[in-house]
Amino acid sequence: APLQDSDLKNIAELGMGNGGSVMKVEHVSSGVVMAKKIVLIDAKPSVRKQILRELRIMHACSSPFIVSSFGAYLSEPNICICMEFMDKGSFDSIYKIIGSQGKPGEAIAGPIPIGIVRQLAKRVLGGLVYLYEQMGVLHRDIKPSNILLNSEGEVKLCDFGVSGELENSVAKTFVGTSVYMSPERIQGSDYSVKSDVWSVGITLIELAHGCFPFADSEVDEDTPIDSAALTPISSLPSSLASAQRHSRRKSRGVSLHGGVGTLSILELMHHIVREPPPTLITPSVPPSLEFAEEAAQFVDHCLKKDPGERMNPRDLLGMSWMNDEGRGEELTLKAWAGTL
Ligand code: ATP
Ligand code: MG
Repeated sequence: APLQDSDLKNIAELGMGNGGSVMKVEHVSSGVVMAKKIVLIDAKPSVRKQILRELRIMHACSSPFIVSSFGAYLSEPNICICMEFMDKGSFDSIYKIIGSQGKPGEAIAGPIPIGIVRQLAKRVLGGLVYLYEQMGVLHRDIKPSNILLNSEGEVKLCDFGVSGELENSVAKTFVGTSVYMSPERIQGSDYSVKSDVWSVGITLIELAHGCFPFADSEVDEDTPIDSAALTPISSLPSSLASAQRHSRRKSRGVSLHGGVGTLSILELMHHIVREPPPTLITPSVPPSLEFAEEAAQFVDHCLKKDPGERMNPRDLLGMSWMNDEGRGEELTLKAWAGTL
């Protein structure tokens, strides 16, 4: 029988995103613990049914790198998506927790060991290859909060783009706009699996540095961004135009580390399109963080600004950094997950 609210008992709230919230729940009759994502949608009944049909693709996924699905149902005015519960949560909270160790109560991000980032990269790319080659879908929203860990040391992707109608109907402000977006997507060009690869590159730097990249941008307090020089709203893709309206209304910004001030989301997007891509090895990163050349090159291949030059997930998996051999002393994901 299809799932419904009365089958599930709430245990705890796991987190809240732009488009909804996620609850830890128990399926009462079976005792199975699940994560229930509640998405407020703004759509006609026919579209709601279409969304449920599209979400069935999730059900058909079977990969060690993809969070499994127990099914989705309507609970007006929401859509609920029940998925595998990942007990160590998502990598955004994981690196923020690491950073706060030693300084109680202070939520400063901390770096994730590069050997762990390497093993995560392998699984994330494995997930992308699976989604792309077996299911014919792009992920479209790769970022630390959509990469989950459990105490078995498994790393899995969630929140991938199986439902175009869901994407269109989510009642949130930044529909389809994210600071992990590739330059070609920001510019409204056609995009492909290479756009997911860009987001992987940004995510790897963020986890290895323990903070969002674009920190050593040209932007500083002495040279404020000339907002008059920004592209007029009418010539931007619609997702960006709504971001610009949003940023004007609420002037919400993305903080850059190193005390260089704040960029609005639109300014950051202009920066991504115009400036050279971020790199793993940068002068602003503490010398305690050392990265091998093969790791830096791998990230560079993810972050080519021209998608034609960027590598695809399958070829990246063939690079030397993805080869496990000769890394004997490396901490396993399972052992590391046990320390969290
Ligand atoms: P955004 O809305 O911008 O995509 P987000 O990914 O953080 O941000 P949600 O997808 O609503 O927002 O998820 C909220 C939080 O719930 C996540 O950050 C994650 O920590 C937690 N979460 C999501 N799915 C699971 C799961 N299957 N198991 C455990 N925790 C989960
Ligand atoms: Mg998410």
